Amino acid sequence: MRFFLLFFSFASFTKTILIDPGHGGYEVGAKIKHNKKEIYEKDLTLTFANLLKEKLRKHHNIILTRTDDKFYSLEQRAKMAQEVKADLFISLHFNASKIKSVSGAEIFYLDNHKNKAVAKIESLENSELHQSKSDIVNKILIDLAINLNLDASKEFASIVHSKLKPVYSNFEIKDRGLKPGLFFVLALSKTPGILVEIGFISNAQERKKILTSKYLDKSAEAITLSINKFFLKKQKL
Ligand SMILES: [Zn+2]
Repeated sequence: MRFFLLFFSFASFTKTILIDPGHGGYEVGAKIKHNKKEIYEKDLTLTFANLLKEKLRKHHNIILTRTDDKFYSLEQRAKMAQEVKADLFISLHFNASKIKSVSGAEIFYLDNHKNKAVAKIESLENSELHQSKSDIVNKILIDLAINLNLDASKEFASIVHSKLKPVYSNFEIKDRGLKPGLFFVLALSKTPGILVEIGFISNAQERKKILTSKYLDKSAEAITLSINKFFLKKQKL
């Protein structure tokens, strides 16, 4: 009987999670030369997405917005979240800066109230869009007005942040915090979601941790725990 109950609770707990490895194809994202070789953000996001998928697939239905090195527009990715009826959307990214000393990890959630969020529209993660900045902001704000997932996104982001914090300390990664942002892909997915910047590949020390240490594995583990905690909390409500 106890076994049956356990099985039943897991079965009802299964969610559809859409993992979005940022960039792809000709849109390589952040890039940096490392040991005479170019390192592209698009490859790292796919590696990390697969790592996360492996950890989550035991209990959830996991779909990736791309499984190979192909270009999909931000609109296509967001549409996919609606088509597969995703319960959660996680966009994965790595950062780069011209200032080599800049480092750290940050988590973004959608917010239409903060000025900071509007500033973030200039970010690399929206750079694929070729419309004018005001057009993009307007489009996102109109969409946010009918977006019912803002609170859930913020709640999920704060759980992920609390689970990632000990990982940041263990690997001496600077915690750049939990931030509001206006990301096209998050706004249009119409699903609770976050965008995670896992670290700066332009910072030599951090790049080493991203490429060689267990930092990615432990981060994927923390995100997995966060997802389970988020849905368990929802189930209890
Ligand atoms: Zn990116």
